[in-house]
Amino acid sequence: MPLYDYQCQDCQNIFDVRATFKEKEAGLEPECPQCQSKNTHQLLTSGLFLRQTGDGASLAMPACGPNAGPGCCGG
Ligand SMILES: [Zn+2]
Repeated sequence: MPLYDYQCQDCQNIFDVRATFKEKEAGLEPECPQCQSKNTHQLLTSGLFLRQTGDGASLAMPACGPNAGPGCCGG
C-alpha cells in the first residue's frame, strides 16, 4: 500500500497516510494525528520511492560503487 505525505495546515505537522489508489482517487481527507484537523494538503515533493527502498544513497549514485569501472564519476 502506498504512502502519502501530508502536512497539516493548522499546526504544520507532517505525517504519513497509507491508502490504496482506490481510496486516494475517491478523495482522501486525512486527519492530522497531532491536532485532529482535516485542513491538510498532500506533499508532492517527498521521495516516495526512496522511502520504500529505505536506501536513497544507492539510488542517487547507482553505478558508482566500489566495483564500478573506469570513467564512472570521473574516475
Ligand atoms: Zn495539525
